[in-house]
Amino acid sequence: MIKKSFRVKEADAAADIALINQYALTELTPEDVFCFSVVLCDNEVDRDLERFTDASLAVLAELFVGKTGIKDHDWSSDNQVARIYRAEVESPGEKTSDGRELKQLVGSVYMLRNERTQSLIESIEGGIVKEVSVGFQARKCTCSICGELMGWLGCPNDHQKGAEYNGELCVGLLEDPLDAYEFSFVAVPSQRRAGVTKSALSGVFEMLKNADLTDFGEQIRELMPRFREAVASAEERDERRRIINENKKFL
Ligand SMILES: [Zn+2]
Repeated sequence: MIKKSFRVKEADAAADIALINQYALTELTPEDVFCFSVVLCDNEVDRDLERFTDASLAVLAELFVGKTGIKDHDWSSDNQVARIYRAEVESPGEKTSDGRELKQLVGSVYMLRNERTQSLIESIEGGIVKEVSVGFQARKCTCSICGELMGWLGCPNDHQKGAEYNGELCVGLLEDPLDAYEFSFVAVPSQRRAGVTKSALSGVFEMLKNADLTDFGEQIRELMPRFREAVASAEERDERRRIINENKKFL
């Protein structure tokens, strides 16, 4: 399973060089490496209406340490350019979309500074590459309502992902992670879904605003994760705009 990707931020090579050297063949200095931290996954409900439990995040933290990062989804050894040297579960003090405490598995990653990695490092520093995608395998997915195994058609007690039971949203809980795989750097696409133009979509939203939606609960529920994602990235954009304006004022 591949899970969604996250933002990159720079880390302190000087403070971490001893940890990094556990994975290096020759002794490295802080000047030899570029370090950053990245959220590998979290306990937010994803677009498949599944989420990690606290216990599975803790196991994944152990599984991700030592895993390599690859460029361009190409698994040849030539493209293994980074390595996770630490992974910890952190609480950023925010809530998940369904009101639980947000937990993030944050990986610290190092790359060697050399000719081969220079352009990728510049892309990360310049914000062009600012996400990674990770893969993992979990032994089972259980029903959040009753704890039974969750299948394609629901659990044995007929609870369906996305439906509510006594006010509680039913989701699949990803449990017993077996392995975590290499991660890939992702260049942020300028348009996530090619083929659907913005102007066509704005017409659809105009229609939706005036339509009676009572019979479309199922379809709307299906789209909810994407609506939430869109709102979140719009807020992020606004926040960036606010910071840029503030900096301009300062200058
Ligand atoms: Zn159930």
